[in-house]
Amino acid sequence: MTLSPATTPVPAAHIRIENLTFDYGGKRPAVDRLSFDIAKGEFIGLLGPSGCGKSTTLRMFAGLLAPTSGQISIGGQDIVSRPPWERNLGLVFQSYALFPHMTVAQNVAFGLRLRKVGKEETAARVAEALRAVRLDSFGQRRPSELSGGQQQRVAIARAIVIEPEILLLDEPLSNLDARLRDEMRFEIRDIQTRTGITTLFVTHDQQEALTMCDRIAVMNAGQLEQIGTPTEVYDHAATPFVANFIGRANAIEATLDRAAQTTGAPILRHHGQSLPQPRAQDLPPGSGTAVSVMLRPHVVRLSPPAGGLTARVLRRVFVGSIIEVELELLSGSRLVAELRPGGPEAALAEVGSEVGLDWRPEDMRIFAA
Ligand code: ADP
Repeated sequence: MTLSPATTPVPAAHIRIENLTFDYGGKRPAVDRLSFDIAKGEFIGLLGPSGCGKSTTLRMFAGLLAPTSGQISIGGQDIVSRPPWERNLGLVFQSYALFPHMTVAQNVAFGLRLRKVGKEETAARVAEALRAVRLDSFGQRRPSELSGGQQQRVAIARAIVIEPEILLLDEPLSNLDARLRDEMRFEIRDIQTRTGITTLFVTHDQQEALTMCDRIAVMNAGQLEQIGTPTEVYDHAATPFVANFIGRANAIEATLDRAAQTTGAPILRHHGQSLPQPRAQDLPPGSGTAVSVMLRPHVVRLSPPAGGLTARVLRRVFVGSIIEVELELLSGSRLVAELRPGGPEAALAEVGSEVGLDWRPEDMRIFAA
């Protein structure tokens, strides 16, 4: 596993996860030596495909599962040895899990009642939490009288009213329809920014993670692939998995001639054709010659064929703001380019025609195959 170079300084750890492991007794641990830090007030996304270990990680935070090994500490204090009710956590699930027979205000007050907070203070804190989620005038309603988005905001108010040390959000947008989901993304992020509560947000949706999080921890098969800002994981994917999982990526198999670096000869070749010259700092470590070149569709540039890397246009699809073009290299490998409608490149990309291909050196990520 490679970790990305830390291009953004990582703030001081408030929450520390160290070698966190959970084994259900399957072929491999569901969570496998997970380690990363979360700063106070950070909004961290835990992102990965179904089955990668997100819920298991969250359950260990919440105290519903005891780690097989490893640590979770908040402010230097271990929380793994504490029972769930002694961890100061706010939990929000995809099913809002509100009590139907209680009013909104009673739902929000629930955690304070458990903590034996006095009546007056409870009323003041419930009012403040409802204000934070913009439901000030809804306290006396029942959950059934609210929309899905409003119910989810009540669930958030109920979680933040106890002033938790960390807010755990488990796919909180999955039950909402598409339009509401987009609104709630900003809503949740806004509530978090205003309250400053450190948040761990579990999602399998890369768009949610990219638009909402300060940093994203990308998980695959129980392990951390990369943690970084949305820009870092998108533009500087540390592994092929991250490049493929976040956004679209083309992969071109190539051979790397390290000796050519000194002579200025082509360094990357794909079935006899030269690829654009890479920057020395982008070459993968190690001595292998088989590499995989990853390219985002929007970085591929088309030109009239001029003897360089050539492809044939197989398909062209207009998708509104862009034209998607499927290209076939002489080797038979395919890649996708995204072009601006009406531009000179779009004019070249007639189905069946031959085009020259090129991209900026800094736009390719090169991984050892
Ligand atoms: P995610 O939340 O990312 O979808 P999970 O944490 O639910 O992933 O699951 C991680 C892995 O652990 C998966 O391979 C899953 O099949 C396995 N797993 C989850 N829950 C159990 C369980 N109760 N018993 C056995 N295996 C489980």
